[in-house]
Amino acid sequence: MRNYEFWFVVGSQFLYGPEVLKTVETRAKEMAAELSKVLPYPLVYKVTAKTNKEISDVVREANYRPECAGIVTWCHTFSPSKMWIDGLRDLQKPWLHFATQYNREIPNDEIDMDFMNLNQAAHGDREHGFIGARLRKPRKIVAGYWQDEKVHRRIGDWMRAAVGVAVSKDMKVMRFGDNMREVAVTEGDKVEVQIKLGWQVNTWAVGDLVKEMGKVTEAEIDALVAEYEASYDVATDNTAAIRYQAKEEIAMKKMLDREGCKAFSNTFQDLYGMEQLPGLASQHLMAQGYGYGGEGDWKVSAMTAILKAMGEGGNGASGFMEDYTYHLAEGQEYSLGAHMLEVCPSLAADKPRIETHHLGIGMNEKDPARLVFEGKAGKGIVVSLIDMGGRLRLIVQDIEAVKPILPMPNLPVARVMWRALPDLTTGVECWITAGGAHHTVLSYDVTAEQMRDWARMMDIEFVHIGADTTPEKLEEELLVKDLIWKLK
Ligand code: MN
Repeated sequence: MRNYEFWFVVGSQFLYGPEVLKTVETRAKEMAAELSKVLPYPLVYKVTAKTNKEISDVVREANYRPECAGIVTWCHTFSPSKMWIDGLRDLQKPWLHFATQYNREIPNDEIDMDFMNLNQAAHGDREHGFIGARLRKPRKIVAGYWQDEKVHRRIGDWMRAAVGVAVSKDMKVMRFGDNMREVAVTEGDKVEVQIKLGWQVNTWAVGDLVKEMGKVTEAEIDALVAEYEASYDVATDNTAAIRYQAKEEIAMKKMLDREGCKAFSNTFQDLYGMEQLPGLASQHLMAQGYGYGGEGDWKVSAMTAILKAMGEGGNGASGFMEDYTYHLAEGQEYSLGAHMLEVCPSLAADKPRIETHHLGIGMNEKDPARLVFEGKAGKGIVVSLIDMGGRLRLIVQDIEAVKPILPMPNLPVARVMWRALPDLTTGVECWITAGGAHHTVLSYDVTAEQMRDWARMMDIEFVHIGADTTPEKLEEELLVKDLIWKLK
């Protein structure tokens, strides 16, 4: 992960004289330093801008610097907005307009015209807001006192979404084999995603992976198996299967790193020359932050890597997921999510077990090793990116995951159980209405608001299904959006 930072650009003007500008600068530096202690990424004070040129210069530099993941603007005083037009028009990085002020309270005895002229964010923020609206510039607006925890959380969440933008623009996906035959939802326009989201999606031959596997040494396998044993409980005697998965992981990781790919997909229909579908191998790669999508689903693979990067510590609790089967007992309605093998251990409630079982689907000559565990309980989201033909739609649904209500002793894969909002059946109706896929990214630490921010920055359609959604309202919303996105 790159060491990302955000730039703090403060608006002012010459009208108030050098003393006021000095005060603004000192306070802005103090705020940036204090906020950097509580935000997930540093906020670096850059300039108290008084001219068109100062704003254009800092924007040009922000666009150029790869470590700069976005800018945060604030108007301590009034900052006439015509001088922001050139800079904001050229801005290519995410933008947050922070509507705050240095003092929390109005000082009863002290307040006079000088005080008001120095502390007029309420005034300046409206001028600043107008030009953002007039330019139709995508931006996040956070209002509140700069020392409040809620404000820190909201700016922090936006920062993570902006890092998701930076990661997206760098995204390279390695495809081993094509999409599963005849499946529609895993398809998509690879040129369109490169234009819109920055993703480079390309194919490598499975034969090249098999060749790479042939070069893996026993010593390399020993080292990775030791890592598996340190992280997971080994619940199988079949060490050959574990070692085979290690060989697959090492070879895939070498190819991914060599090409700078942060995500990959494969398919059980093309394992030519391999004994097993990568299970444990893909799961352990996901644990390290790589995105994965089964059945050639490169869209969900890239989204998995992006949501992981947006999460806690740059590798949060997010993973590739698939809606598998329902529990429809009245009052206990849940979805059971799993996959053939490849569920990310960042979703696990407890230490995963390495097990080996027969896998009937695909061309598995031998029983593949995989991690088996139960998913955590808690609030989360599921995310699906679909290609509507001519545009991309991002669908996010709020979920409440529970400890699986059944032990399911014969189920040989990791499993997560959840209830979609507003309730399982309405939630399913909404999801199906919007065209959401069976493959998703399930996340415990990225929120719907963050995905909305990400979609706005990426300029793609966003659909949120939550506690207040009804199929009727959603249908109307989709109809309107269909028209809007045809015009855009
Ligand atoms: Mn699948």
